[in-house]
Amino acid sequence: MALASLRDRVAIVTGASSGLGRAAALALARDGARLVLVGRDRRRLEETTAAAAAAGAAASLALCLDVRVEVDMRRMADATLARHGAIDILVHSAGVLRAAGAGLNTVAAMTTREWDEVLDINLRGTFLANRAVLPAMRAAGRGDILNLASRSGRSGLAYDAPYCASKFGVVGFSEALADEMRHAGVRVQALLPGRFATEVLTQIGLPQPGDIPPPERVAEAIRWMLRLPADARMLSPLIEPLQSTGGGSWPPAPPPRTRKETSMPSPFCSAAEDLRGKVVLITGGSGGIGLATARAVAALGAGVVIADLDEHRVAALADEVGAVGAAAGSPGALGLAVDVREEADHARMVQATLGRFGRIDALICCAGILRKRGTPPKLMVDVGVDEWDEVMAINLRGTFLANRAVLPAMVAQRAGLIVNISSVQGLQGRAYDGPYCASKFGVIGLSQAVADEVKSYGVKVQALMPAAIATPMWEQNLPAPMPGDALPPERVADLIVFMLLQPPDTVIVGPVIAPLGARRRRATKASAE
Ligand code: NAD
Repeated sequence: MALASLRDRVAIVTGASSGLGRAAALALARDGARLVLVGRDRRRLEETTAAAAAAGAAASLALCLDVRVEVDMRRMADATLARHGAIDILVHSAGVLRAAGAGLNTVAAMTTREWDEVLDINLRGTFLANRAVLPAMRAAGRGDILNLASRSGRSGLAYDAPYCASKFGVVGFSEALADEMRHAGVRVQALLPGRFATEVLTQIGLPQPGDIPPPERVAEAIRWMLRLPADARMLSPLIEPLQSTGGGSWPPAPPPRTRKETSMPSPFCSAAEDLRGKVVLITGGSGGIGLATARAVAALGAGVVIADLDEHRVAALADEVGAVGAAAGSPGALGLAVDVREEADHARMVQATLGRFGRIDALICCAGILRKRGTPPKLMVDVGVDEWDEVMAINLRGTFLANRAVLPAMVAQRAGLIVNISSVQGLQGRAYDGPYCASKFGVIGLSQAVADEVKSYGVKVQALMPAAIATPMWEQNLPAPMPGDALPPERVADLIVFMLLQPPDTVIVGPVIAPLGARRRRATKASAE
């Protein structure tokens, strides 16, 4: 994997005395970062400092400061510069669910203090902490800020309006700052965790159910986002716990939606470090993203199936990828000529995969086209039915057929991951590419529906949304050129590998990966993907 090292990078972690902040600090300590730990509770901060030292961090600096206080945040930056001479990373985790002593409350009954305290800590604190580190990062021409938001920063929930409002605010703030800083070498990202087992639950009187995954899952995602090479950023991804009943008959009747779910016996298994013993099937496997993924998973020991149109090319690539994987213990690679428009091809693909490897652990649906071959960008009023049908048949119907074909094997295994490659154009429509946008919105809807159907069976289904990636697909976009900052396809491949390495109890939901300057370019009249 082409991920950056965190060794000797100077990292400030706020909210480091407990929960996600503490877990992030320990993950960075294990990577050899130089740490500045910020919290309000001196005793607990000292505990984190001792744990960080045991994990490998040399003499971390511990600062007892309040993120609501402007001079405290300035002190945080000054003390870091005095000790380490630089600020490379800020992981801003300080936050509260509710005001001290407050419980669930309606907006109608809420006191102003309940509102102010949460907004002050969560949102104003984010502003103050981020602003405090910016001068040093801008002067150095590099820096990484990662703000912890929440799933409640994507959808609001009754009785916790201050928390939801503050976390929506953190996402908006982070995306705005990211846009401002994209030419200054400073990357700003937000991560939106669902409910992981941190003390915030017990502090507010909620028992911690034993089957909620630990904060280390989120820490691993933070670490991965910080190690992502500097040309790319993740646009506010969600990381969610996933409960699986591990059983029940297939297909389910009645739908599991109404049933109370119980967890699988041991969801706390630790993340695997390689993909040995796994089998990854990739449609569009000889294209840009598909081939980069085939190489990446083979290099970690997976068996690979490369399914694509051209028989000779898939055979040659299977030899090459098989050779890449041999040293890592991969059982080899299989090339299959498959047209994803053809139902029968999917049945053959699954049969051949099971025949060769005996299982299917992951399906990566990369087969896709921007437009019907040889056709230029067009207004919707000018799009021919044949052009519409071709894009839909490959991008959306092909994804449906592939998902449907592998699911019986995955459900029988009670394990599997499907990653359907959508696009940022699946989130935001764009003129002149109606069929493509419609197909990619459809891929997200399909993925969410299937995910909901099979999650109780240990099978995860995800859409992944890349922005501009430098692949042959851009040749279909001529005369509009590929943007100069299009990411190499290995960035997407690395993200897929990270998704594959998640333990069964955790899922990265609908990630968007983009070049550092992507948002602004899309806002100006972008002409091409
Ligand atoms: P690519 O053109 O390099 O790869 C696409 C592959 O799909 C090709 O190998 C092609 O032969 C294969 N394919 C097309 N029709 C097929 C069919 N009927 N049956 C089997 N295979 C078929 O492009 P890429 O960039 O690697 O695209 C992979 C996926 O990523 C696509 O779904 C695309 O929409 C998506 N995507 C790409 C970008 C980008 O900027 N490149 C951005 C967002 C999303």
